Amino acid sequence: MKAFWRFLLQRNLSKHWLEGVRYALFGLGDSGYQKYNFVAKKLDKRLSDLGAMAIIEKGLGDDQHPSGYEAALDPWMSSLWSMLNQINHKFFPQGPDFVIPDMKLIDQPKVQITYHCNDEVDPQFLPNSDLKWIEMQIERARSMSPGKFNPNKNRPHCFLKMIKNQPLTRAGCEKDVRHFEFEFVSSAIEYEVGDILEVLPSQNPAAIDAFIERCNLDPDAFITVHTREIDNHLLHTCTTVKVPIKLKAFVALTMDVASASPRRYFFEVMSYFATAPHEKERLQYFASAEGRDDLYQYNQKERRTILEVLEDFPSVQIPFEWLVQLVPPLKTRAFSISSSPSAHPNQVHLTVNVVSWTTPFKRKRSGLCSMWLAHLDPEQSTHVPAWFQKGTLYPPPPSLPLILIGPGTGCAPFRGFVEERAIQSESGATAPVIFFFGCWNENNDFLYRDFWLSHSQNDGVLSKAKGGGFFVAFSRDQPQKVYVQHKMRENSRRIWNLLSEGAAIYVAGSSTKMPSDVLSAFEDIVSKEGGLPKESAVRWLRALEKAGKYHVEAWS
Ligand code: NAP
Repeated sequence: MKAFWRFLLQRNLSKHWLEGVRYALFGLGDSGYQKYNFVAKKLDKRLSDLGAMAIIEKGLGDDQHPSGYEAALDPWMSSLWSMLNQINHKFFPQGPDFVIPDMKLIDQPKVQITYHCNDEVDPQFLPNSDLKWIEMQIERARSMSPGKFNPNKNRPHCFLKMIKNQPLTRAGCEKDVRHFEFEFVSSAIEYEVGDILEVLPSQNPAAIDAFIERCNLDPDAFITVHTREIDNHLLHTCTTVKVPIKLKAFVALTMDVASASPRRYFFEVMSYFATAPHEKERLQYFASAEGRDDLYQYNQKERRTILEVLEDFPSVQIPFEWLVQLVPPLKTRAFSISSSPSAHPNQVHLTVNVVSWTTPFKRKRSGLCSMWLAHLDPEQSTHVPAWFQKGTLYPPPPSLPLILIGPGTGCAPFRGFVEERAIQSESGATAPVIFFFGCWNENNDFLYRDFWLSHSQNDGVLSKAKGGGFFVAFSRDQPQKVYVQHKMRENSRRIWNLLSEGAAIYVAGSSTKMPSDVLSAFEDIVSKEGGLPKESAVRWLRALEKAGKYHVEAWS
């Protein structure tokens, strides 16, 4: 996409360059994010600026919509087909109508499985617990899977060993946030504050067994998985030589069998393989545009897992080839690193919200990776496969004054920033740092309380003596909500002084409303303290962002 976009942005393209080109565009977005469907909107504008003509108005899919992307996709698809028919009839007045492909499967799955006899398998590929062997298994499974993994992510950067698993929230409180410490076991890894750690979680062995049994698969079979490529409607099998892997290992390492709310297409394929008429009818209804709301009630609202859905329709027996392509790939989960490598050489720390909730029908649900990590015992050396990634929060130089906003687990990267500054200040002067933190209650979820308070004392990184500050907003300790932006407004002069000294702003946390509320608070502060009209304050902050001094990393 980047290459395509750069290509379209070339300066020498005239505004007639794409004249005669017609396009239809549907964006996959999430209105929880400030720049909702930004790519689709920009691309649409650029294509039309270059003379291309949209066949129909662009569609904007919203992952926040209760029925998912389909809510916008269904009407968009109907308009597209009817417009294509109109165009077709212009050229071929007697020609037949295009038929909307509904409930029709392509005739072959995209993957082909080869089963190997056990004596075909080289003994070096038989299971053992050696780390190198585990790494090869991961690489082998992920490289064979049709799931869209980044090829660089097939082989883990390193293995980590958990050395600390410590609750940061009060026992019995509604939230469970943990501080995890890991040591590198395979090799020394370099990372910087603000980086991200991706972790490949292990699935629950009982869920894997149940899935294999429900789907009538042989867990001990040795398989290779080949992806077919669709080329001019012909299916060719790729001929790369593959090393066999046990079916159970392949499932465990690449197929997220407990993933919730399968997409509508899953129900469409199930309907194809259902042998009981009443099941077929129900599945076809779920897969249709008319059944969208009922599917939402059954599927998304309850967050039913793939396995639960399969168990609800016992007549359905989906061939493994189809399952491999339908079950969502087991993805790595990304976390902001909450340590500084200078403060903890050979270690990396994470701050993780252990996700669990109860559905409307009282089913207990939990996040796969956070729950797995929370159950790891530092005494037992489980190896955690991990990848280091650059985040959007660049490590600031020691001379740069900082204004940090990180409510909830959004404080994670800033723990690393403060640790790094503390080390830097041992060997020279560093610029001031102000940190705004927010949580529910002083007594329940004041994450890293002692850490922030100790750095606020004497001449600590966040101390007033150093021109810095630490401010905390407890949202639920009084009848009215108090958020980080309230604390920011109370400290507007202090913020403005630091901005005038060239401070950079870093915001991390929930992507829902917090980043835009924090931005509004900054606009008010710049307007009030800088004596600027609101529009000028907005422009001032936009210029700060353009200059690379307003960073936001927000996750939902
Ligand atoms: P949270 O839900 O964000 O809540 C933290 C505090 O923020 C609570 O006191 C909450 O108050 C308050 N809050 C709610 N709405 C707000 C608003 N509009 N403006 C300001 N404050 C507001 O905390 P969490 O449960 O730890 O979740 C943190 C989120 O940050 C997750 O979505 C996680 O994925 C994300 N995260 C991002 C990064 C990153 O981007 N680097 C790192 C870690 C975590 P009430 O609940 O009382 O309303």
